[in-house]
Amino acid sequence: MELLDGKKLSQEILAEIKEKLENASGPKPCVTFIRIGEDPASVYYVNSKQKKAAMVGIESRLKTFPETISQEELQSEIEALNADEAVHGILVQAPLPKHMDEKTVFNTVAAEKDVDGFSSVNLGRLVQEDPEAFVACTPAGIAEMVRRYNIDTVGKHIVVLGRSLIVGKPAALLFMRKAPFANATVTVCHSRTSNLAEITRQADILIAAIGSAEFVTEDMVKPGAIVIDVGINRVDDPDSKKGYRIVGDVDFKAVSPKCEAISPVPGGVGLMTVALLMHNTVKAWELSQNRK
Ligand code: NDP
Repeated sequence: MELLDGKKLSQEILAEIKEKLENASGPKPCVTFIRIGEDPASVYYVNSKQKKAAMVGIESRLKTFPETISQEELQSEIEALNADEAVHGILVQAPLPKHMDEKTVFNTVAAEKDVDGFSSVNLGRLVQEDPEAFVACTPAGIAEMVRRYNIDTVGKHIVVLGRSLIVGKPAALLFMRKAPFANATVTVCHSRTSNLAEITRQADILIAAIGSAEFVTEDMVKPGAIVIDVGINRVDDPDSKKGYRIVGDVDFKAVSPKCEAISPVPGGVGLMTVALLMHNTVKAWELSQNRK
């Protein structure tokens, strides 16, 4: 069994970006994060993205707003960033307060600055297989993991567990493209899928993104399959200092001996996600230079 090492890959990607930016002249890429409220997970995620940006030579800015900000006010802040030529990428950290319509907010971000790839324009571009599409960072990270491990996907049956807009759907779209490291036959499963285990057992490559701790058990996986675990779930663990530990959507201990390769949690797709955000920011910056 081979471990799909997201830590090693993400370090490679970040080092490549750092080198590229060290050798670039003129203004460097700049990403602006928008954070609303003080949700500890959002604070943590934005901080760690800013640290990674600084590490590779990307400028990052942070705009914070109270939970009471209205949707209209937030949209006008985003529009001001859309118009700011010094800003190449904009990321609105989810989740948003309940009074906001996430889709409208994500669609307010200019498509060419939408480094999270959540807008309808970028999702449409992904469907059209447009190379200028910004692909959501987690599925893009999965695809990059597949590419860098040289995993053969052509004609393979890829089963994606989960159909969210930020993971499952774009992952499915990526692997059904007529492109290298794609051209797969993709099945998407969700909470209403009947005979789920029967379908997952057919997968040459199984991508689990449902948000349910250790949901994928040994009997759901074909011997020799490749398993990519996207899940990030907290489970109580009185033996750990924090009182909890992070596990994926796959029962790693039971499933891994059966697999040809598997991504661990932590140390797998999560780290790829941040690396791909940096990649998308550099892409936004490069595309903006080409437009000048
Ligand atoms: P969502 O809750 O948005 O979507 C979950 C999907 O899984 C839905 O399509 C849902 O079906 C499906 N599902 C839920 N339960 C079952 C079940 N029992 N059987 C089959 N399908 C089921 O989650 P996300 O896509 O945002 O995230 C998925 C996981 O990935 C989470 O653990 C999350 O923390 C993690 N994640 C990790 C990231 C990373 O960087 N590694 C980034 C983003 C997410 P239905 O549509 O019918 O409700």
